[in-house]
Amino acid sequence: MKATIGLEIHVQLKTQSKLFCSCTTDIDDIEPNTAVCPICLGYPGSKPKLNKKAIEHGITIGIALESSIKPVIRFSRKNYFYPDMAKNYQITQYEVPLAEGGYLMVGDHRIGITRVHIEEDPAKLVHVGGGITNARETLIDYNRAGVPLVEIVTEPDITSTEEARDFLKKLSLILEHLGVYDPSGEGSLRVDANVSIDGGNRVEVKNITGFRNVEKALNYEVVRQRSAVNMGLPIVRETRHFDAETGVTSTLRLKEQEEDYGYIAEPDLTQIHLGVDLVGGLRASMPELPDQRIQRLVDRYGITRFQSDIIVNTGLRMSVFYEKCCELYSNSKTVANWLVTYLLKSLNYEGMSLEESKISPETFTELLTMMDDGTISERLAKELIKDYVKTGKSPRKLVEEKNLALLPVDELRVVVGEIVSENPQAVADYRSGKTKAAEYLIGQVLRKVRARAAANTVRELVLEALKEN
Ligand code: ADP
Ligand code: MG
Ligand code: ZN
Repeated sequence: MKATIGLEIHVQLKTQSKLFCSCTTDIDDIEPNTAVCPICLGYPGSKPKLNKKAIEHGITIGIALESSIKPVIRFSRKNYFYPDMAKNYQITQYEVPLAEGGYLMVGDHRIGITRVHIEEDPAKLVHVGGGITNARETLIDYNRAGVPLVEIVTEPDITSTEEARDFLKKLSLILEHLGVYDPSGEGSLRVDANVSIDGGNRVEVKNITGFRNVEKALNYEVVRQRSAVNMGLPIVRETRHFDAETGVTSTLRLKEQEEDYGYIAEPDLTQIHLGVDLVGGLRASMPELPDQRIQRLVDRYGITRFQSDIIVNTGLRMSVFYEKCCELYSNSKTVANWLVTYLLKSLNYEGMSLEESKISPETFTELLTMMDDGTISERLAKELIKDYVKTGKSPRKLVEEKNLALLPVDELRVVVGEIVSENPQAVADYRSGKTKAAEYLIGQVLRKVRARAAANTVRELVLEALKEN
């Protein structure tokens, strides 16, 4: 059975102030209902004033998605009765969005973009003592009301839940590169996911936070719809709610049509002419997009496409980290090898993102330098990187604290001498032509000194000792 998926993605735009007033958008760590004013609370007589930065961000997004930017835009009031908007309407764009058309490639598959428009975020509802359908009470935080959102609507071109996830990952990375969005913000990306199977009725799962949850919700919905069809049950056109705790979707309401909302033109905002200069200027100063960055890292640093792909796709911070390391350390290929193989592995193991860990380009390149100057062996570096990622401490400090630096050759020679005299059988074997016996002795030495010697130095010393007596 074939799944058909279309997404409506709401992203909070990175601006200092809200869409129509000067209240702050920096609301993650402040008391509820403190970033509010007569405009975002919809007091009678208050008038919205459009934030130009939000429009610019929207245009930049439209350009990145190859959409056509409208020369004249308008705002509308979407009327509905629900306490998340104190005005009883949301200012959004309906008849004339900011941009239309465009696409985003996911692998070789082109996903069409229907439209890109700007609107204000509603307040956050906090359900206490239950979920959305059975809470004892509901608290309202109007700090979020009026935060600028961009809504990006896709065509129903997505054919699987994995593709939906990949689409969202790529979109999020693009928005991050454009500097219009902060992926670490709480609820900064929210999705309404529409899904149908085999040409059946479509179901809309509303307001899913974060793209991992989108994948879960879609998986649940596809399975649910499939089993309904298998049992001969009808799939009704409806809006469902996804509970991130239980991973289950449930009926919220029968699907309303957009027309049911009763849109009217927003009389407090006039038409806005997006000048050729404004759009042209933004077009000319577009930041580097992820695909371009992947190519540039390959060209500039001589790393493989595979490595560049991983570095860039891990997130903007990771590619900035990589380039900073290349400024501090001369061999950009070594940086990429160690970053892609060992650093990322350790971060994954700790379940940490780069932002959460305390590592820095300075300390990471210190680790590489310590291998070069013979302070530590490669083998030890691979061990050490785990502690380094976990603690964020300077690798040099870690080596000192744990007394892990390589032994001076003289000390190592003494250990080799001891092992050789403790193993006369292995020595005899070696001399009778069983060269494998040397491996055994090397192994014994390495075991004794732990990681405090490089394997090739030990090999040289052991062979030297076997030659001698
Ligand atoms: P509405 O007005 O109900 O929001 P839209 O026509 O604006 O409906 O479409 C909303 C979303 O639903 C879009 O992302 C679109 O791609 C998606 N969609 C449309 N038809 C289908 C379908 N048959 N199956 C899955 N998604 C669909
Ligand atoms: Mg819709
Ligand atoms: Zn305000």
